[in-house]
Amino acid sequence: MKAEVHVDRPSTWRKYKNGLCEDCQAGCCTLPLEVSALDLIQMGLTTEEEAGLSMKALAKRLKKEKLIDAFHLKSGIFVIARTAMGDCLFLGKDRRCQIYEKRPQVCRSFPKIGPRPGFCPHKIRLK
Ligand code: SF4
Repeated sequence: MKAEVHVDRPSTWRKYKNGLCEDCQAGCCTLPLEVSALDLIQMGLTTEEEAGLSMKALAKRLKKEKLIDAFHLKSGIFVIARTAMGDCLFLGKDRRCQIYEKRPQVCRSFPKIGPRPGFCPHKIRLK
């Protein structure tokens, strides 16, 4: 029997191989999602103009609209809000990304980059 996969413990993750995403339960979409202002523009959450004016003001608005949980001024990183279940805000009930065409760079690059490059929290037990 295969050991259980825990999202918070990358040592339990499975090695990624082609086809693994076919019966995916979006374990990767329960990891904290950190994005840049450029990603936010791509995601349609802001415009070049708004991001260029003040990152602080942008973060304030996004927080007010419950789209982000945090903003780190030094690194310019925004942490996308999660649902009460711990899923990314943009993950649908069908466990598919609702903004797939506009998803940020880090989502496009997973699992090449991530907490354990080349591995993925495949078939997590859903809460
Ligand atoms: S933006 Fe889409 S692909 Fe990225 S973590 Fe959220 S639901 Fe998953």
